[in-house]
Formats: sequence, C-alpha cells, structure tokens
Amino acid sequence: MTVTDTEVSGRRYTVHNPATGAEIGTVPDCGPDDARAAVDAAAAALPGWAGRTAYERSAVLHRAHGLMLERAGDLARLMTIEQGKPLRAARNEVGYAADFLSWYAEEAKRVYGTLIPSPRSDQRLLALRQPVGVVAAITPWNYPISMITRKVAPAVAAGCTIVLKPAEQTPLCAIEVFRILHDAGLPAGVATLLTTSDPAPVGDVLLDDHRVRKLTFTGSTEIGRALAARAAATMKRVSLELGGHAPFVVFDDADPKHAAKGAALVKFLNAGQACICPNRIYVQRGILEPFLETLVARVAGMRVGDGLADGVAVGPLIDEAALAKMERQVADARAKGAEVLLGGARATGDDLAAGHFFQPTVLTGITRDMDIYHEETFGPIAPVIPFDTEAEVVELANDTRYGLASYVYTRDLDRAVRVAEQLQFGIVGVNDINPTAAAAPFGGVKDSGLGREGGPAGIEEYLDTKLVGISVAR
Ligand code: ADP
Repeated sequence: MTVTDTEVSGRRYTVHNPATGAEIGTVPDCGPDDARAAVDAAAAALPGWAGRTAYERSAVLHRAHGLMLERAGDLARLMTIEQGKPLRAARNEVGYAADFLSWYAEEAKRVYGTLIPSPRSDQRLLALRQPVGVVAAITPWNYPISMITRKVAPAVAAGCTIVLKPAEQTPLCAIEVFRILHDAGLPAGVATLLTTSDPAPVGDVLLDDHRVRKLTFTGSTEIGRALAARAAATMKRVSLELGGHAPFVVFDDADPKHAAKGAALVKFLNAGQACICPNRIYVQRGILEPFLETLVARVAGMRVGDGLADGVAVGPLIDEAALAKMERQVADARAKGAEVLLGGARATGDDLAAGHFFQPTVLTGITRDMDIYHEETFGPIAPVIPFDTEAEVVELANDTRYGLASYVYTRDLDRAVRVAEQLQFGIVGVNDINPTAAAAPFGGVKDSGLGREGGPAGIEEYLDTKLVGISVAR
C-alpha cells in the first residue's frame, strides 16, 4: 500500500533490513514523471492550503501529533527493522519526531507580520509573512522519521505545500509518516511522498521546476553542495543540514569518568551514524588515562546486534559501503601509527554474519595526517587525541571545514563560556550530550550547511516577507 497518490510509473523496489539482509517490503519506485505529477499536485494545492487559517493548519498538525504518539510502538519497530537502530533509540526518535508536529502546530498561530513606522504621515508600511510556496524536501536514512517531521511540520504550518523524497534505504518509515498526515486530514497535494531507488532523476525534476520555490535538504555535504548549485538556476530558497565532524573536548578539571560516559553515549548513538556524533575526542593529557579506562570499559560493554533484541546498544550500519569506510579508516589510521584499544574490525558471529555490523572501536595515537582526522566517520569509531592547552584545543577543534555540533566538558564556567564562544560550530553542548530539541535552532556553519531547523528559526525558512506600502489620504 502506498500513500504516494500521484504515482504514475507503477514500478516498485525492495527494501532490506540492515541487520539481517532480509527483504522487508516493496515500495513505489518513482521516476521523473511521478516527480512532475507531485509538483503539479503541490502547485494546485498551494492556494487552498495557504488560504486556510493558521488555526485550521494547526489543527491538522495537532491531530498528526496525536496519531504519531498512538502509533509510536509500531513506528519504532518499523524503524528498527528498516534502519537498524535499537528499539529504545527508535522510540526516542519517534517522540522527537512528534515534538516537531506539536511545536509547529503552535507556531503556525504565531507567524506575525509587522507594522513599521513610516517617514511619511500619509503612509502605512506593513511587512507580511507569506509561505514561500511549493517546497522540495530531501531527507536521509539515519533519522528516517524525525528528519521528515522537522521539515514537513514547519512547511505546512507556514502554509506551504511540500514534495518529499526520502532516502532510498528508508522509504517504509516515510510512508508511515505520510499515512499519519493523510489520516490527520491533510488535504491531497499538500504533502506528497516520492519514494525512489534512484534519487538523481527525481531530484533533478524537483530542482529544475520553477514552481518549486524552496529546497530543504539533509544529507551529505557533497550532495547538498551539488543540489544547492543546481537550485540556484531557478533562484530557490535553500536550507541545508549537512555533514559534521564534531570535536568532543574534555578539560582536566572535568570528571573524566562522567565525560567518558557521555562520550560513549553520544559517539555510539545510532552506531555513530548521526551528524552530531563526536568524530574527534580531545582529552587534556592529565586525565587521559582515567578517561580512556572508563571509555574502553563502557564501549566494551556495548552489545552489538539486531536492534530488536533486548540489551542491544549498537545496531548495524546502513550498508556495505558504510562498513567498507570503517575498515578503510581503521586501516589508514593503523598504517600511520594509531593504536586500536578496542574493536577495529567487522563484527561477525552466528547472528551477525548477514548484517552490516562493525565492532565498537576506540583508537588512540591519532595524528592530523590520518583520514579519520578530517573525514566524517559516520560509524562506531572513537578516536581519542590528547591535548595540553586551551588555546591549542580550540585551534584543533576548529581545524575542519565542518561546523555542526561540538562538545565541551569542564567545570570552569569562565572556560566554558570562552571556549563555547570560540568554537566555530552551530551547536555547542557544555557538559551536555544532547543539545537538541524541537524548540531549539539546529544547524551548522561552514560546510555543515545553511539555515536552521527547529524553533522559530525553523519556520522562517518557509516564509517570505512582503512589504505593503499603503498611501492613506488625509
Ligand atoms: P548519505 O551519504 O548519508 O546517504 P546522501 O547525501 O547521499 O547522504 O543522501 C541524502 C539524501 O540525498 C537521500 O535522500 C538521497 O537519496 C539523496 N540524494 C543523493 N543523491 C541525490 C541526487 N543526485 N539528487 C537528489 N537527491 C539525492
């Protein structure tokens, strides 16, 4: 069953469970004709949807929020089967995804314009906020439900219509989110889903169509850069949530055990497949030993396996290419002198052989010439790097083209403020491994992207400002 109601191609493709390799379903394999039909539907639905009151749009989102919570158990199970993360993490993600629906249901009612004092007594100046129009959204597989609501909720709250292309690996989760929107009463054409095994032809139609006024993308820097360049030809608004290479900085005034527990939790979140996962763990030399001791002990205790099984902390990687990247990064680091304290290879064994599992890994002896020092890892490898001074670590942390998340552990308030202000990242967690919420602006600087998602900034991305100057006869 599909909710891609514009589907014209009739082709389907098969989706697999990354933990077992098993086929778990088939979905529409949309092509350029489907994409054109979806844009037609979105353009046709736009005036009606933009013309609804904010209260009506809000009511649909509130209903969708309720339905998502009602279906949370099934959604989480589906996510674990399709994407691999442990069931508890999948439940957390569904909660986070639902938060965007309720938060933007409220924010829909607060899209205020302004009345600006005019230099002329016979003039009134109004700044209206209006929906940008038809939106094209492209989402990744690592957070297959929340990355959809983070875009769809503010877009439809603002009065836009949206065509969304999910990642080819996780279309089943996307279908269930769109089923919720449909069941909540979102009118036909307001949000249309295009599942496909071949993203470029579908993406090209969305990017080249002048009626699409906005591109919102979450994924790799490489693809995001290419899509933004193409979107420039039709002068679309663009927001991009791209890769990260997060530094996790631990000063020697921090409790090394507490910091190591935090590092282990956030590093191995989603098997390291999150753009906010630490990629470089900098530890001040004086506490390196106790930090490593706790980190290795915590990571060694993490059970690898199918996310449906009890007690599993680290699920599979999404595909073979991801596994190969882990092997390549470890081999490169080893060849250049890194020491493998834990893991370092594929996780095999009876029930793991058919899946894409990699052992949770801790590396030391990392140097700047290693690939892992510069490349986004997107997997369960924790490279630990000692440092000596505050100035040195700020320079090291900023020595990347990425600028999404960063973390600082210290009990010194002055130092926390100084370092947070100097880090060139869109997000800084101070003694905090989860600096995200539907109400807060999430996004990066430098090669990590443009724009923000979440909070009031998140709906701004879907609004244009129109100046209305009114001459008033006296
Ligand atoms: P990752 O490497 O994490 O899979 P990608 O940037 O390749 O990240 O994928 C993120 C999203 O971008 C997915 O939905 C994917 O299908 C989509 N995508 C990849 N290449 C293209 C393209 N040429 N045109 C449109 N979408 C694309």
